[in-house]
Amino acid sequence: MSHSTDNTHLPFTPPTRSRLRELLVQAGLRATQQRILILESLTQLSGHPTAEQVHRAVLGASSSISLGTVYKALDSFVAAGLTKRVAVAEGASRRYDADCSEHHHLFCTDTQEIIDYCDPQLDALIRDFFATRGLRNFQPTSFSLHITGSRRDAQRNE
Ligand SMILES: [Zn+2]
Repeated sequence: MSHSTDNTHLPFTPPTRSRLRELLVQAGLRATQQRILILESLTQLSGHPTAEQVHRAVLGASSSISLGTVYKALDSFVAAGLTKRVAVAEGASRRYDADCSEHHHLFCTDTQEIIDYCDPQLDALIRDFFATRGLRNFQPTSFSLHITGSRRDAQRNE
């Protein structure tokens, strides 16, 4: 690739606690201390954490929340549309994304990193493609590409 456009996502600003409380209530969930703490940890961790990573962060905030509780809370966030589950390789741990805006993912098989990727030109290309070609009886409303590979620049340190 020769062009060097920066397609990384705009920095995601973690919401305040009162905003988190609001988000939970708006999503129809009870804003318990546990849920607020778990949602806060999720939004503060970058790189699409696993439930285990969220759990570790929650414990850092002085609390005795179990991993099972974290899993349950995360699943309720996903069901309520507050959080997205990221598609990863078969058998890999579930990963969560607090950023529900439309974006694509680059998955690095070496480091297991999931990097957000945005490119309006690519989105326009895909929209145009399906607008002319169609998808049988299917009307696409959103799409997210999952691109698997490895970071070449991370290995080539000359
Ligand atoms: Zn993402």
